[in-house]
Amino acid sequence: MTARVWHPYNSIPAKPTPLAISQTQGHLLQLSNGVQLIDGIASWWTAIFGYNHPALVEAIAQQSQQLSHVMFGGLSHPAAEQLAESLASRLTDTPAIFFSDSGSVAVEVALKMARQYWYACGKPEKKRFVALRHGYHGDTWGAMSVSDPESLHQLFRDASESTCFVTAPDYGFTNTMHQSLALASLETCLRQQHQQIAAMILEPIWQGAGAMNFYSPAYLQAVRHLCTRYHVLLICDEIATGFGKTGAYFAHQHAQIQPDIVCLGKAITGGMLSLAATCASNAIADAISQHLPQKLMHGPTYMANALACACANASLKLLDEINWSDKVANWQQEMNAALASLALLEGVNEVRVLGHIAVVEMSSAGLAAATQARAIAAGIWIRPFSQWVYLTPAYTMTASERETLLVTFVEVIQQTCWAQDSAPIASI
Ligand code: PMP
Repeated sequence: MTARVWHPYNSIPAKPTPLAISQTQGHLLQLSNGVQLIDGIASWWTAIFGYNHPALVEAIAQQSQQLSHVMFGGLSHPAAEQLAESLASRLTDTPAIFFSDSGSVAVEVALKMARQYWYACGKPEKKRFVALRHGYHGDTWGAMSVSDPESLHQLFRDASESTCFVTAPDYGFTNTMHQSLALASLETCLRQQHQQIAAMILEPIWQGAGAMNFYSPAYLQAVRHLCTRYHVLLICDEIATGFGKTGAYFAHQHAQIQPDIVCLGKAITGGMLSLAATCASNAIADAISQHLPQKLMHGPTYMANALACACANASLKLLDEINWSDKVANWQQEMNAALASLALLEGVNEVRVLGHIAVVEMSSAGLAAATQARAIAAGIWIRPFSQWVYLTPAYTMTASERETLLVTFVEVIQQTCWAQDSAPIASI
């Protein structure tokens, strides 16, 4: 393997050496040495139908015969138009859709939209942001500026100097009782600083990379209420949660709230191509479009790539056809049943499940890493964050694949916990 490629969150050469993948098929990753791994995390929560789904492959192939990409400045094409219509109809209240090429950029665009909205409203001083502790919104500068600097981006903490971080909600999807601390923290921030604050950004219901934890729709409703009261826009970053992951098509729909801006990405193309969207309310679109400079000041070169848009159109259709809601509910039920007893193990702090997301919080990052090594040796691919070992599998796994994945996952966590006092196992 060449030492020229820089891998994510890694050095050159990468440590440990990444596994060489020669092929993907269905829900399997095939290593170049012939070993097959069941993918437990669907390539960072994107490949919700597994790999190489014929409907998506076909959509890309067809589109490539016709129009792979044209610049979007001054030109348009049916694949993007259709996708914008579909997203708008599923979101209902944020129908102005701006396409970009990755989740982080979708967040950048959302932040710029929020600032430009207030500029258009004659309040250019409203340019700061409120964000949640343990939040994560991507790795570009603006996205980092609203991500908790204590999590992944400590090295770049100056990016977030002007952001007001407020206490994260008490966790638990059904926990509606203990939000007073978090809401008091938000209200204090908004009361004191709302005149300089453009928007609050959060990951609805599931705080991903920075917390791997769920919170209640009631908290989200209270946030919406406070943002409205203090004239602050609400940005829901649905990049990780969108397209059914938490059991609702979009996670904010659990709370029946209307965000002002929604960011989408990841599973939008079923894991085939990089595409993202920032979706804004009519009020934002109108304000920006009607006040000088009368244009949103952003325009990526590969904006609305036609292959990616065609793939996303096929992916949204497929999502409807596979009855995603039953499949995700089924995952939730099976994961709850299979994993609950892990919470009793010494070495496991907590087990939590929502939708197709299962998180086993280990007592240390070392235990999580040891679990990963065992999982790979046992034929499943997972990649923990910190002390969180998690599954976010494809919705479409067969019953036997689901059973193999869950049984193996439980076994490797048990073995890791039982082996705690013995010598650390070698990672492969
Ligand atoms: N927001 C959230 C909530 C995410 O989970 C991620 C990626 N994990 C991003 C933004 C950034 O997306 P991307 O990696 O596509 O830039």
